[in-house]
Amino acid sequence: MPNQYGTLYVVATPIGNLSDFSLRAISTLQQVDLICAEDTRHARTLLQHHGINTHCISLHQHNEVQNAQSLVDKLQQGQSIAIISDAGTPLISDPGMPLVALAQSSGMQVTPIPGACALIAALSASGLAVTQFSFLGFLPRTSSARQILFKQQKNNTETWVFYESCHRILACIRDLVSCIPADREIAIAREMTKLHETIVKASLADMLKLIEQDSNMQRGEFVVMVSGAKIDKKPDTLNEQQLKTLKALLSECSIKTAVQLATEITGARKKLLYQTALELSEKS
Ligand code: SAM
Repeated sequence: MPNQYGTLYVVATPIGNLSDFSLRAISTLQQVDLICAEDTRHARTLLQHHGINTHCISLHQHNEVQNAQSLVDKLQQGQSIAIISDAGTPLISDPGMPLVALAQSSGMQVTPIPGACALIAALSASGLAVTQFSFLGFLPRTSSARQILFKQQKNNTETWVFYESCHRILACIRDLVSCIPADREIAIAREMTKLHETIVKASLADMLKLIEQDSNMQRGEFVVMVSGAKIDKKPDTLNEQQLKTLKALLSECSIKTAVQLATEITGARKKLLYQTALELSEKS
């Protein structure tokens, strides 16, 4: 039996350049019965630009919980609904979660229409390692709360990413410098896809200087990315205790067995233990 329920479409919109809008996003917004937009006036510019005349209502952080059930009722009556935010992908530091969660738990189909997302765009052009990353959303507004967060993140080996506003970018980078080694690499993506798009990668110390000296670097919208902590490499020489253990084992076993046991006991690199064992046996 065909599904009589409507679908909830989660539609990504551009993060600046109005052309960064997929053909599927445009046709979905033209075809749905209703668009829920974070800000209807803001949405109108985009919708008009693409000739979309669908009825639009506002759904934002202050009314989304109370409106979720009536919107799910519409889906159950067979209407299709699209949700959009002011920029990028809904729900990513944006409204939409209560409606998506309720629609999904009510058995409605929820379909993403993917597109722009500031954190993904920023990572893709940052030059930092992006295989694994942590997204922190917007940071706390006070310096003391930010510093606590930065200290917790200090040993995170993944690249970490967050959104920051122009009002706090300088204070935020100053807080970072006070908590993280100043030679750590960071990247900032500012005003992506817009006229003043700037994507810079530098050491934390140099980035702070750049932002302090160039007031343009305190304007617009920002994504900040901090490279992960480097894991300490194992040293190139054995310490006294490791050497003592190796020597004791060599006096009782073959090189192969001594190295195998020493690796397990001391945790030192096997190759280093083997090399040292050969040198010791040549000397004896
Ligand atoms: N949902 C959006 C997304 O998918 O990226 C994010 C919405 S959040 C309310 C807005 C924040 O995203 C901005 O304060 C800024 O940190 C970041 N952002 C959005 N557009 C941006 C752009 N063009 N360049 C840099 N950062 C941007």
